[in-house]
Order: sequence, then structure tokens, then C-alpha cells
Amino acid sequence: MSAQIIDGFEIARQERERVARETALLKEKGITPCLAVILVGENPASVSYVTGKEKALAEVGMKDKSIRLPESTTEQELLKIIDELNNDKSVHGILVQLPLPKHIDEEKVIMAISPEKDVDGFHPVSVGNMMIGKKSYLPCTPHGVLVLLKTMNIETNGKHAVIVGRSNIVGKPLAILLARKEANSTVTICHTGTKDIASFTKQADILIAAVGRPNTITADMVKPGATVIDVGVNRIPDDTKKSGFRLVGDVDFDSVKEVASFITPVPRGVGPMTIAMLMHNTLEAALNTLEEK
Ligand code: NAP
Repeated sequence: MSAQIIDGFEIARQERERVARETALLKEKGITPCLAVILVGENPASVSYVTGKEKALAEVGMKDKSIRLPESTTEQELLKIIDELNNDKSVHGILVQLPLPKHIDEEKVIMAISPEKDVDGFHPVSVGNMMIGKKSYLPCTPHGVLVLLKTMNIETNGKHAVIVGRSNIVGKPLAILLARKEANSTVTICHTGTKDIASFTKQADILIAAVGRPNTITADMVKPGATVIDVGVNRIPDDTKKSGFRLVGDVDFDSVKEVASFITPVPRGVGPMTIAMLMHNTLEAALNTLEEK
């Protein structure tokens, strides 16, 4: 029997609807959540991500302070803008779209964002708080994956989660979140140094691919009945599309759906959840200022 498709698009829509309701209540108290989105350069994927975020902000009734900067922007200029936003009380969250041009040190930029406004959850203070289970902004993509599992009533407690990929924005935070007591999974992380990846993926009750390479996970690597979450977003050439490309994940969807019990598609799987969780974090940031009053 074919796997049940996890409709990330619909689950994200419901999440944004909830955020919109809570935003409306907050506005009645005189606070409109505001996110500053900074884009440096014109990387087509980044432009499309930023446009999606701006659209979502408008849809949930939040303010969007978009800052689009030329590729030639210096590190110092960018740090100065972040400093101004850190001190601007009308701005609740700051997001710098990654990757940045090569001449700008991403780590320095992430460190410059005030942890109180770090709605991406990439600042070491946010990461540290998440690690020790203290309140923090959770990174949007891993958080979105947890919400998908929860919404679909997929048990994580006592399950073996295998994550392929160990980036700071997806693989590692997901591993931490799934291993925390609330999710209570046993976690294995695979990467390019892992020998015989299939021997691990075949043990997974929950298999998560965050690699950035199409067809990394094939049906023979999946335990029958597993839940498969595909975080990957890869552009592959497609002459039949106006854009000249189409999006695929890291999982060979057609073959794996015949083995798994649940699977996320690409697109309309994890991607929309990332934006929905960003809206959630921006709302949290605005609510935090209410607590400070
Ligand atoms: P990344 O920083 O490039 O990390 C990729 C990870 O995969 C690395 O840890 C790498 O291992 C590992 N890897 C690469 N090739 C491998 C292989 N053949 N076997 C095993 N491991 C391998 O990527 P990322 O930022 O985590 O993103 C991963 C994918 O998710 C990309 O397609 C990205 O576009 C997508 N993504 C989607 C969303 C969303 O909202 N849906 C959000 C973020 C990212 P090493 O550490 O050993 O190099």
C-alpha cells in the first residue's frame, strides 16, 4: 500500500491561520509584529524565499520591513543596518537571508543579531538555549518538521530517528529537538563520513533527509512502514517548465512512497512549514515585548 502523503502545505496554512488570529488579538493591544527581512544580492533562490516570506507576513497581518541591498554591500554596512534594527523598538524580528555574498562573514552577521530578535534561531545563544531545553526561538525548518510529525500523530517517543545531514540549520538542531525529552526519540546522524548509510537508514522509524542531493534516499534504504521526511530542495533542469527547472527533494519519492507509511512531498512538504514557523517566531518575539511592558 502506498504511503500517506503528509500535506505540509495544508498544515502550514492552518499554522499561519492560528498565527493570524493571535496577531489580530495582539494588534488590539497596540502591537503589530514586525519582521525585518534583509536580502543582499539577487541569488534567484534567495529572492524567491524572501518573496515567500514577505507574502506570508502580509497574509498573517504582520508588518514587513524589507531591506534589499546590492551584492556590493560591505560587511560593515550590513552590520551597521543590523545594529540599527537591534535598537529599533518597532522591529521584533530580524532575518538575514542566507547565503550571503562571499565577502561577508556569515558567522559575524548571525552573531550581530540580538538574540531577542533572532527569529531564525541561528544565534549561538538561541542554539545553546535550545540545547539545554530553555525557552528560545527554535530554528524554523526543524521546528516545522516536529509540527508535521505532531499534527500527523506520528509517535516519536521511543522511536529511532535517523537524520541524513548535519548542517547547523537543519540536521544538528533536528537531532537535538528529537532527542529532547518532549520528543524522546533515539537519534542517529549520518553524513559524508558515515560508512554504509543504508545500514542506518534501514533501522529508522523516522527517516529525515537534509542533504541537498536528489535521490540520496532510495526505496531499498527504507524500512517498510517508516515515516520519511524530505527536507531537501533541489532545482533540476526541466524544459517543460517556464522557469526551466523543477524542484525535487533528496528522496526518490515515487519508489519510497511504496515502502513508507508516511512521506512528505517536495514541493508542498517541509518548505511551507519553514515559513509558517517563521511567522510563529515573529509572533513570539512581539509577544515577548508585551511581557516586558
Ligand atoms: P548543507 O549545509 O549543504 O548540509 C548538507 C548535509 O548533508 C551535510 O551535513 C553533508 O555532510 C550531508 N551530505 C551531503 N551529501 C551527502 C551524502 N552523499 N551522504 C550523506 N550525507 C551527505 O545543507 P542544508 O542547509 O542542511 O540543507 C539540506 C537540504 O535541505 C538542501 O536541499 C536545502 O535546500 C534544503 N533546505 C530546505 C529547507 C526547507 O524549508 N524545506 C530549509 C533549509 C534547507 P557533511 O557535513 O559531511 O558535508
